[in-house]
Amino acid sequence: MSKRPRKRGGFRRLDDNELARLTFHGAVGQVTGSCFLFETGGLNVLFECGMFQGGRSEASRNRRKFPFDPGSVDVVVLTHSHIDHSGLLPKLVRDGFRGPVYATAPTCELLKIMLSDSGHIHEQDAKHASRRRLRRGKAPVEPLYTVADAELALDHLRPQPFGEPVELAPDLSIRFLRAGHILGAASVEVLVRDGTKVRISTAGSAQSSSPASRSSSAARLRAPWRRRTTRILLSVDS
Ligand SMILES: [Zn+2]
Repeated sequence: MSKRPRKRGGFRRLDDNELARLTFHGAVGQVTGSCFLFETGGLNVLFECGMFQGGRSEASRNRRKFPFDPGSVDVVVLTHSHIDHSGLLPKLVRDGFRGPVYATAPTCELLKIMLSDSGHIHEQDAKHASRRRLRRGKAPVEPLYTVADAELALDHLRPQPFGEPVELAPDLSIRFLRAGHILGAASVEVLVRDGTKVRISTAGSAQSSSPASRSSSAARLRAPWRRRTTRILLSVDS
């Protein structure tokens, strides 16, 4: 099988018969680090930008370079404010993302508190780790991101009401639908080109016949799926 040429920045060209591509860059084989890249050919949308949480290996994953160029992401959409869904947003902005971040108004309010607090925690962690390292003659460590990085990320927030369509491009819109889980949480309905619907949900178990909810790292929404409603439920929290 011939290899498709890779586009620069981690993005690949869509096949002629592909409507869009959804790639899972986190929360695969675990529940933290939610990060799903949705490419339509015209727009690159990142759903969630979550932090990996747990032990040392998760901490080191947070420090790795993003597997795509943050500067090539056009829009970020967040379903809710929990840090495993939003916690790497300051790093994404620091590393080059310049677009809007869409989330519900209550989620934006919570993010102002949670991302600033997260920046403070990373500053303190780095300070303590550096002190220990200096005692052993090792170089200090930089925080994953700072309060200042978090504040820069907050400038990108664009609060949205529940239930209203938000047009991201002429052939792509989203709608935040009320969900439980936490104040402000939403399922996101994605409407692509000719009416294909994809729903990205924040809670519940994987209950989809589509390939997207399985453990594969990518799912292609092929053209034959057009002209019917396709729902994908992503299990990103329990
Ligand atoms: Zn959550």
